[in-house]
Amino acid sequence: MSDPRVLVVGGGPGGASAAYWLARRGFDVLLVEKKTYPRDKTCGDGLTPRAVRQLIDMGFDFDREDVHKIVGLRAYAGDLRIELPWPQHTVYPDWGATLRRADLDMQVATYAEKQGAVVRQSTEAIAVVEDGELVGVDLKENGGVERISPEMVVIADGSLTRFGRKLGTARRRDYPYGLGVRGYYESSNSRDGFLESQLNIYDKEGRAMPGYGWVFPLGDDSINVGVGVISSFRGWKDVNTSRLMDAYASSLPAYWGLDEESQLTKPVGGKLPMAFSVGPKSGRNWLAIGDAAGAVNPFNGEGIDYAYETGRLAAEVIEDTLGSGDPGRLRAYDQALEDEYGAYHRVARAFVIAIGNPVMMRTLTRVGLRSRPLMEWVLKVMANLLEPDEYGMQERVYKAVEAVVRLGPDPVLK
Ligand SMILES: Cc1cc2nc3c(=O)[nH]c(=O)nc-3n(C[C@H](O)[C@H](O)[C@H](O)COP(=O)(O)OP(=O)(O)OC[C@H]3O[C@@H](n4cnc5c(N)ncnc54)[C@H](O)[C@@H]3O)c2cc1C
Repeated sequence: MSDPRVLVVGGGPGGASAAYWLARRGFDVLLVEKKTYPRDKTCGDGLTPRAVRQLIDMGFDFDREDVHKIVGLRAYAGDLRIELPWPQHTVYPDWGATLRRADLDMQVATYAEKQGAVVRQSTEAIAVVEDGELVGVDLKENGGVERISPEMVVIADGSLTRFGRKLGTARRRDYPYGLGVRGYYESSNSRDGFLESQLNIYDKEGRAMPGYGWVFPLGDDSINVGVGVISSFRGWKDVNTSRLMDAYASSLPAYWGLDEESQLTKPVGGKLPMAFSVGPKSGRNWLAIGDAAGAVNPFNGEGIDYAYETGRLAAEVIEDTLGSGDPGRLRAYDQALEDEYGAYHRVARAFVIAIGNPVMMRTLTRVGLRSRPLMEWVLKVMANLLEPDEYGMQERVYKAVEAVVRLGPDPVLK
């Protein structure tokens, strides 16, 4: 094949979005995905209003039967419970959705194809590196290897990012990251309109665990159940996430209708690289996006939307760079990421470190869940749904969190 002008490595949300926006701008784009669609991806399958906005912009049909719309978040801290609708916003819809990743990712890759991108499945891209520079890409397909030399490469190969690592990208060890496990269960309540989150979870012996659990209803008689732990909690490495997941699933409220027969799939785990902890994010002829850049939101573990957003941003920067003929303009990508997410992620990182003590986390959630106005703000901040004139609120919410944390364990409950 002739060399494509831009190669996109990986056909998850990031890669499909980059390919979509590049093809729409008229570029000759090849997207390679090493698996075959529909391919599974370990995920909670939850889409916030931000992700829905990105999908609408790419022409996604939310009236499809397999899409389940979500009106808000239900949070528990022990026996305290609160239901919060998604906020009204001038840019984002006031609803979210759930959809299995196998279907979602295949669909978005199809949209990229419709814009003119060439999508090659079952094709693995391997970086050819000389003196630290990307000088070509080997495409492995059906036992054969073909070398291509695209002008520009978008690295969207997910949290393991083998392609990126070959070019020297690495995760900052002083930044938090997450580990999550999820499984599917049959449930009579799968049409529930809320994402559910248990903010205090316990192991089988009743010990508080450094993490939180979720139930995301899929609207098709099944639910996605998972637990996540964040590396800022001491002892998080010793947590057996599979056992935690069993304990969590067996402790869910009765309205989910789970019993011993309900489990549909064995739990599987994955990493969540957060707060743009992976870098460098650009080189002479490449950009890294999505999980390959560590783009997950530390506040809530959301990564699909940020993969879409960084893919779109990468397309804009590549258009400018190739259009101007000045390769140096690729560096604008780093600045654009800083402008868009820098302040938010600094607060989010500090927040995740502040809640690193499970006792403090319990304190905070129990204080928080008693105040609806506070929780409404917290949801807005955590899902990154502030209006421009509300920026700065994240710092204020974080300072409130810090104040609660400084008060010590359960001041309200003692
Ligand atoms: C347990 C868990 C639950 C989560 N829940 C949610 C949630 O509910 N909502 C949310 O928004 N986020 C969630 N996330 C995060 C979300 O899954 C990721 O942030 C998101 O998938 C990142 O998209 P991506 O395109 O960067 O990478 P990926 O989705 O990982 O896609 C990368 C793709 O690249 C392909 N690939 C890899 N190497 C190569 C190669 N060399 N050549 C060709 N192809 C290659 C892979 O096969 C894969 O298809 C969760 C994560 C975990 C682990």
